[in-house]
Amino acid sequence: MPSINVAVIGAGWAGLSAGVTLVDAGIPTTLFETSRVLGGRARQVIINETILDNGIHLLSGAYTATLSILNHIRTPLETLDLDRQPFKYAYGPLRISTPCTPIPGKQLLGFLFARGLSLTEKLRALKFLKLIKDGALIVHPSESAHQLLLRHEQTNTLIELLWNPICLSALNINCERGCASVFTNVISDALLGSKRSSDLLFPTSDLTSLFASRAGRYIQKHKGILHLGHRAKIIQGTNNELKLEDSNESFSHIVVATSPHNLKTTFTEPSMIQSTIDQIDQFTYEPIYTIYHQYKKDSSTGDRMIGLNSPFAHWVFDRGITHQDLGLIGAVISGAGPHQNLTNEKLSIESAKVLDDEFGLGTPLWSKVLAEKRATFSCTPGLQRPAQITEKNGIILAGDYTYRRYPATLEAAVRSGIEASNIILRSL
Ligand SMILES: Cc1cc2nc3c(=O)[nH]c(=O)nc-3n(C[C@H](O)[C@H](O)[C@H](O)COP(=O)(O)OP(=O)(O)OC[C@H]3O[C@@H](n4cnc5c(N)ncnc54)[C@H](O)[C@@H]3O)c2cc1C
Repeated sequence: MPSINVAVIGAGWAGLSAGVTLVDAGIPTTLFETSRVLGGRARQVIINETILDNGIHLLSGAYTATLSILNHIRTPLETLDLDRQPFKYAYGPLRISTPCTPIPGKQLLGFLFARGLSLTEKLRALKFLKLIKDGALIVHPSESAHQLLLRHEQTNTLIELLWNPICLSALNINCERGCASVFTNVISDALLGSKRSSDLLFPTSDLTSLFASRAGRYIQKHKGILHLGHRAKIIQGTNNELKLEDSNESFSHIVVATSPHNLKTTFTEPSMIQSTIDQIDQFTYEPIYTIYHQYKKDSSTGDRMIGLNSPFAHWVFDRGITHQDLGLIGAVISGAGPHQNLTNEKLSIESAKVLDDEFGLGTPLWSKVLAEKRATFSCTPGLQRPAQITEKNGIILAGDYTYRRYPATLEAAVRSGIEASNIILRSL
């Protein structure tokens, strides 16, 4: 066994969180990233000389590990670059907001005062939430969120305007296909957790600047090494050493922090971790489409985020309000749907039509569709997710898909990266 020397493959939020945790513990650490831009799926892209994000991301007050690492890596003069707002839900005709009161359970109170639901619906939603809050909800491992909701007498309106949009935005899959237990974990932690867990956190800078650049800088400052534009491939060295192609260095541990669909190609001999690969081969993936529309600078929707009950714009983000990119509006479509049958050009037109009908924005100056076909793994009932410790000694997985309590989210990625490092640190 060589002396402790860790390679981290992949500099998305999981790999970078692993890197920060390892250099904090004084472990020699080298990160390898295929792209020249840090951040993985949550990274900046430059289009028409405008800095955009690969996908518009929303964080939650329940992202405790993410908030902690964001605070840890910034310099005292840097701001957090998150605009923290109390929970407010606007989707179609439904409006829910958290009352400004310090009383415990205020999120539940918000549901009582919701607009767009009958009293019976409010009471049914509250009864369901109360069961989750009290830990009294029985969830079958193989049931979908939809089956769970029907068992608890949630009406079609509640499902259409409340639960399905929440399921789609959190799990990136509709509630008919989404896993009930992960769905209730999200509700429990984000809607019913501590006092400020239901807050919505809007990035005010692009995602690479928000986290990845700062994490990369932190790692280098603490003697870690970053190799960008380097696709790493693990080879089996002699004497069971862990090595990478094109490198003479051997590593005591390798944290593989790629997305699940890239895992296999990170090994010259994937059979090294065959049972993990067998599990990943069962994964399917869901898309997220982001359609940016640039309008004249005085155009605005009037709110940071508004939900529209439309197949061509589920959530609409006003980057003029969050990022000072005046007139720039982003429409997000989560999961699979009829939009996938349209060309990008047709989809831009359809989504601009929806925005014009809703906000009177007219015709955009330019539009750009960013289609992430494998944005997240499909968080379906009963999906077996691999353990972070693999059958190959020294190879540890990180990545959003390995944090089993959550769907594919930034928080899952960060927690998995920290845990991968802690697995190594505990073994020393
Ligand atoms: C459009 C979109 C919108 C989203 N919206 C939200 C949201 O609002 N809120 C939220 O919490 N989450 C959201 N997510 C999910 C979130 O972005 C992901 O869960 C998270 O970024 C995953 O991080 P990761 O580090 O696990 O994986 P990744 O970000 O995929 O990072 C893996 C990295 O590994 C690199 N890599 C792969 N193979 C190799 C190799 N052989 N050698 C070197 N490097 C390699 C890749 O280039 C990549 O940089 C969204 C995702 C998308 C795509």
